[in-house]
Amino acid sequence: MQVLAVASEIYPLVKTGGLADVVGALPPALDALGITTATLVPGYPAVSDKLDGARVVATYPNLFGTAARLLEAEARGLRLLVLDAPQFYARTGNPYVAPDGSDWPDNAIRFAALAAVARHVGNGAVPGFAPAIVHAHDWQAGLTPAYLHYQDGARPGTVMTVHNLAFQGRFPASLLPALGLPSHAFSVEGIEYYGGIGYLKAGLRLADRITTVSPSYAAEICTADGGMGLDGLLRSRAGILEGILNGIDEKVWDPAADPLLPAAFDAGRVQERRADKAALQARLGLAVEPQTLLFGVISRLTWQKGLDLLLDVLPSLLGAGAQLALLGSGDAALERSFAVAAARHRGRVGCVIGYDEALAHLIQAGADAILVPSRFEPCGLTQLCALRYGALPVVARVGGLADSVIDANEMALADGLGTGLQFAPVTREALAAAIERAAALWRVPKRWQQVQRNAMRTDVSWRRPAARYAALYRQVLDARA
Ligand code: ADP
Repeated sequence: MQVLAVASEIYPLVKTGGLADVVGALPPALDALGITTATLVPGYPAVSDKLDGARVVATYPNLFGTAARLLEAEARGLRLLVLDAPQFYARTGNPYVAPDGSDWPDNAIRFAALAAVARHVGNGAVPGFAPAIVHAHDWQAGLTPAYLHYQDGARPGTVMTVHNLAFQGRFPASLLPALGLPSHAFSVEGIEYYGGIGYLKAGLRLADRITTVSPSYAAEICTADGGMGLDGLLRSRAGILEGILNGIDEKVWDPAADPLLPAAFDAGRVQERRADKAALQARLGLAVEPQTLLFGVISRLTWQKGLDLLLDVLPSLLGAGAQLALLGSGDAALERSFAVAAARHRGRVGCVIGYDEALAHLIQAGADAILVPSRFEPCGLTQLCALRYGALPVVARVGGLADSVIDANEMALADGLGTGLQFAPVTREALAAAIERAAALWRVPKRWQQVQRNAMRTDVSWRRPAARYAALYRQVLDARA
């Protein structure tokens, strides 16, 4: 089977979030199941600069007012179709945001162009590539199912995946004539969204199947609380909505062969983590104390991630005798508050403001537990890495966090089960209680080590998710046969 994926990000070329990880990791995992994927991406400089052997497979003299070419190429082992439209994509930095911090004013057209070319490729424009399925990711690809839906004649099956419902691609209705869709597309049954045009909404309304990145998030987005204005539509399509948990790249995140760590380890050599913990404590200016429970955080510092709650309960964490190592960037006020906390509690709280992959690996390997107090979390990758690295995830019971961590409660512990701790609701009281539970578990090393072993044995690879996507593609085809 051949599949066309359509996305604005793909790891390791261009990434602002978990979307890129999925789009980069799924094709090789599907390949092992006999499914060949080509991914259509915009020709950002970060992409165009890395292409091997690009060749032109289509030209567009006038694509929404500009000349463009479609290139077929390989990059980092991925089969890519790159939409080379310099007027739209030859911009460095964040793909969506101008240097002044506002969205690029032509985002609607930039991503309509991506979807229009996706239709062209979906209909067989690239020689030797006849996709049975077109798989659109997030709002930037959201118009793809619409273009295919409103065309005459046969079309491939369509899947729309939402990685974070908070980003919806909403634009004014006045855009309609420029999109080249029939006027009747502007309806509740089509692309209309609260009087404007919704790119994600269009995809969610018109795709054959919808997926999101965890079963719990799939349920949450059907509620008024989690649906961000789309819950009514999603409830009406709940029968074709499925949550498939993400995996992580086991080569990038492999504690037994991680070049970024002072000491390698695995489930059978977990004592080697001690050297990583000491290195982490030293790096963040923490007292180098092997017996002290060390919590780690690696996160964007935003409201979603709930780290304001962690600031509030810092006295409880310190009162339990624990330390905190935090790496993050985002809201200026949160950045400042954590820096102030580190200065005030020298040796007990360490923080690095910024984005640092190497330090992220060291925190996963050196911290005893990783805190993830998100208010909502479609899937979450940090806790998956934490499982693999034997840092017990202490997570809010929401979205993919709820689906990937098994709470080590009394009964679980009695049966030798549990891979971390969960808490709910997402309040400072519940977070403080979870930190206290972690501290209590830490005081019983045998139990802690059992949970740690369980965590490290969890299958967080892409094998199972890829099999789910493969089954889904087949269901789409069967339903259309
Ligand atoms: P989101 O995509 O909402 O930011 P995820 O948990 O799905 O959250 O994925 C974020 C990924 O980026 C994780 O692997 C996390 O460890 C990593 N990450 C987040 N912040 C930083 C940072 N400041 N430095 C390095 N890695 C980070």
